Amino acid sequence: MPSITVLGLGAMGSAIAARLRVHGHAVTVWNRSPDKTEPHAEAGANAAATIEEAVAASDTVLVVLLDHASVRERLDPVAAELKGKTVVNLVTTTPNQARDTAAWAAEHDIPYVDGAIMAVPSMIGEPHARLLYSGDEHAYNAVLPVLEQLGTAEFTGEDPGVASLKDMALLSAMDLMVLGYVQAIAMMRTAGTPAVDTAAEVEAWLAAMLPHGRELAAIVDGGTYDTGGQSVDFDRFGIASLITASREQGVRADLLEPHQKLLEELAATGHGDSDWIRVIERLTIR
Ligand code: NDP
Repeated sequence: MPSITVLGLGAMGSAIAARLRVHGHAVTVWNRSPDKTEPHAEAGANAAATIEEAVAASDTVLVVLLDHASVRERLDPVAAELKGKTVVNLVTTTPNQARDTAAWAAEHDIPYVDGAIMAVPSMIGEPHARLLYSGDEHAYNAVLPVLEQLGTAEFTGEDPGVASLKDMALLSAMDLMVLGYVQAIAMMRTAGTPAVDTAAEVEAWLAAMLPHGRELAAIVDGGTYDTGGQSVDFDRFGIASLITASREQGVRADLLEPHQKLLEELAATGHGDSDWIRVIERLTIR
């Protein structure tokens, strides 16, 4: 079993280090605040006093710090020590931040894999923990037996930013979906409905509607927006009703207004008859 170094023992780094140790790897840990290494050392991990010592201990270094800035703050000074070792950066970053770190790694002959964790710490080690990777495919394949201990591993491409991009896209989808719950709960609260009851209704409604998402996606891939489905003009009136109803109940419609804005832009540019999903074309910044 290869020795693994884990940099960062927050909630996620601790779960990862523990998982690898339980699976039989020799694990070296380092954390900015040294007290967090103590439980790991008691459980059999090697607690490094310095990041240099931690990096020297293994050929594979997993980075689980907070953000891009903390990664560069800590890794830049040990670039020479990392030469030839595989760095897997599991920190949540933007795609360009991932590409930036990959370019830095290439300059210093450090095989680099960027990762994105689609899971919470308690899921680490379970198959439903999904971890996305991109970057150096050769390095990825070499460390895959280790990465597979963390959850289901998926290589998304050699562009080091792709795993982050997918992470951000899926998180965006979740964020907007949760805002849907917020809007419905705010509206139904005005009629005295407890939030948990509305949430249950929303859950059932969204479950019934979810397959529709793939139908809309097929229209986008078709590229013509002329399938005769729900049109921009039809949806303009629908969204106007939602906004009016919300305000009538004394609830702000700020979360709904962006959708209305996109539909109005399409109508103003002569696309009132198009499938409403044409709004996606308005999202591209040209
Ligand atoms: P925590 O806030 O629990 O831990 C942050 C870690 O980063 C700590 O070890 C902290 O050290 C360290 N750190 C912060 N700033 C610096 C710095 N400037 N220099 C050195 N170390 C620093 O975060 P998590 O462990 O939960 O998250 C780690 C990464 O995993 C993040 O990028 C997060 O987005 C990602 N992630 C987390 C998920 C989760 O559910 N927790 C889910 C998916 C991804 P110290 O102890 O000294 O403060």
